[in-house]
Amino acid sequence: MNIEKRLKTLLGDANVEVNKPLKNHTYTRLGGNADYFVTPKTAEQVQEVVRLANECDIPFMLLGNGSNLIIKDGGIRGIVMYLGEFNEIEVVDTTVRAQSGALIADVSKEALHYHLTGLEFACGIPGSVGGALFMNAGAYGGEIKDVLKEAIVITPDGELLTIQAEDLHLSYRTSSIQTNGYIVLEALFELEVGKYGEIKSMMDVLTYKRESKQPLEYPTCGSVFKRPPGNFAGKLIQDSGLQGVQIGGAEVSKKHAGFIINKDEATASEYIALIKHVQKVVKENFDVELEREVRIIGEDK
Ligand code: FAD
Repeated sequence: MNIEKRLKTLLGDANVEVNKPLKNHTYTRLGGNADYFVTPKTAEQVQEVVRLANECDIPFMLLGNGSNLIIKDGGIRGIVMYLGEFNEIEVVDTTVRAQSGALIADVSKEALHYHLTGLEFACGIPGSVGGALFMNAGAYGGEIKDVLKEAIVITPDGELLTIQAEDLHLSYRTSSIQTNGYIVLEALFELEVGKYGEIKSMMDVLTYKRESKQPLEYPTCGSVFKRPPGNFAGKLIQDSGLQGVQIGGAEVSKKHAGFIINKDEATASEYIALIKHVQKVVKENFDVELEREVRIIGEDK
């Protein structure tokens, strides 16, 4: 039986798409198609897909909310797994259990609803819970590491595990979810009781900061680069006079130098070429290597 048939037998015809365009699944609106795009509905189905991919020696990857990804123009070979159906959020006392496909911003709002403090920093991060754990997402002094208690994951062999947060080695935009190839299914956050008004006004302040400083009106991947030690990527890029520089339809944002926008139907190769150009110029000017925060995946055309 071919892969398409086997996936459809496992997941049902409606949950397997072949040669699926991924552009609209990413915030940069870039990239080609996935060979197979699957949307499992249960943990068992995720495990089955992993086992099938291993048995047939086909690569597979997880797609969250596509806010930290550049997919190359040639698309992705193998299986792209999308867990958008895993989107429940449940609050019990001071703990919030959230499935991987829920948006971290929605988890933050749910915490507010129950007067729980700790996740205000995440109110404007456009990622899923799975992507937020994978990246140890953070903003304005807070990060996932501060509030995560444990996660339920599936290993690359298809085994279901509950892992304590300290064993996930969360640090600046990295985690052992990345290095071990775990699939995040669920996260348990431990928060504290706070005052609704204070939590809400903090979220309003952070939202205002984000909206006034970031070019959210354009497709973008957020901060392209990690913060170099003792410095700021945006400042180095600004001081290099790179704001407004374009390659094809990609442009270094004039509003926030740390962002590259897809201004006019850019291709992924143009966007990536601009990233490399920025890295080269900053290295020449300041002898600083800018490390990418955004992940680039897939094949060239
Ligand atoms: P994706 O982009 O879909 O994927 C990112 C990586 O996570 C991929 O390698 C993917 O395979 C992996 N992944 C996704 N889901 C899972 C899963 N269930 N299990 C295992 N691996 C998985 N980030 C910050 O930290 N702070 C910010 O303030 C911030 N602001 C942003 C603002 C804008 C406008 C944008 C576009 C992005 C911003 N980001 C920020 C980046 C991004 O939102 C975060 O990195 C986010 O955590 C990515 O989540 P995602 O679901 O979109 O992941």
